[in-house]
Amino acid sequence: MDTNKASAEAQGNILGNIAHIQHLIAEDAAFFGREAKSVQLLAVTKTVSVSAIMEAIKAGQRDFGENYVQEGVEKVQALAAACANVTPPLVWHMIGPVQSNKTRAVAEHFDWLHTLSRSKIAQRLDAQRPAHLPPLQVLLQVNVDAADSKSGLPADEAAVRDLAVLVHGLPHLRLRGLMAMPNPSEDETELLAHYRRAAHLLATLQQEPALAGAQLDTLSMGMSADRRLAIAAGSTLVRVGSAIFGRRPG
Ligand SMILES: *Cc1c(COP(=O)(O)O)cnc(C)c1O
Repeated sequence: MDTNKASAEAQGNILGNIAHIQHLIAEDAAFFGREAKSVQLLAVTKTVSVSAIMEAIKAGQRDFGENYVQEGVEKVQALAAACANVTPPLVWHMIGPVQSNKTRAVAEHFDWLHTLSRSKIAQRLDAQRPAHLPPLQVLLQVNVDAADSKSGLPADEAAVRDLAVLVHGLPHLRLRGLMAMPNPSEDETELLAHYRRAAHLLATLQQEPALAGAQLDTLSMGMSADRRLAIAAGSTLVRVGSAIFGRRPG
C-alpha cells in the first residue's frame, strides 16, 4: 500500500510528506464525491521533536495531535514561545486517553480532546477549563470494533446520546462529534463497517432534539494506513503520524 512506502520514506522530508498526504486526502475525497476541504489533516506528533514540528509548521500545518499529556504540554509550551506570531495559530489536540489526575493539564493547555468517554472526566474538564480560554472542543470516543482492550464508549446509541447530552450541558466544553480508532485489520470490509457505524452514530446525534444547536461537524477517523476507508465513510479529520514524520522508534 502507498502508505507503507510513505512511512519508510518519511524521515527527513516533512514538507514533501505533508504535501503528499494532502494530495492523497484530496484524491480520496474527490473519489468519494466529497470536497477536498471537508477532510482535514491532523499531524500526530507523539515522540516527534519540537524541531520536526517546526518543519511542519513551516509547511503550513497547524493542527497537531499528542497522545501523552505531559509530553504534549511540554511541546505546547515550547511552541507557544517559538510560534507566538504564527497565523493562523496552532491548534493542539489531545488524542490519547486521559486519566482524572491529568484533566487539569488538558483543560489548561489543549484546544481539543478526542477521547472523552466518561462523565466524571467531562465534569472535571468543565470545572478546570480556565475562564480566559474558549470552551474545550470535545469528541466522544466510540469503541466501534468492541475491542475489550480499548477505551471508548460502547458503540451504542443510548450510551453515546447520554454522554453527548451531558457534555452539551457543560458551559466550558463544546461537543463537536465523535472519534473512532478500530484495531488495524486486513479486512477492509470490516474496517469500513466500523467507520460507517461511527458515522451513523454521529448522524443520530445530529437528529437528537436534546442536542439542538450543537455544532456536530467532526468525525475523527483514519490514520496513515486506513485513511482512505475512513474518508469513504465520512471522516472529516484524519490523524496521520508516521507518513509525515517517519516511523516511530520502538
Ligand atoms: C499514533 C496515533 C495516530 C497516528 O498513527 P500513524 O500510524 O502514525 O499515522 C493516530 N491516532 C492515534 C490516536 C494515535 O495514537
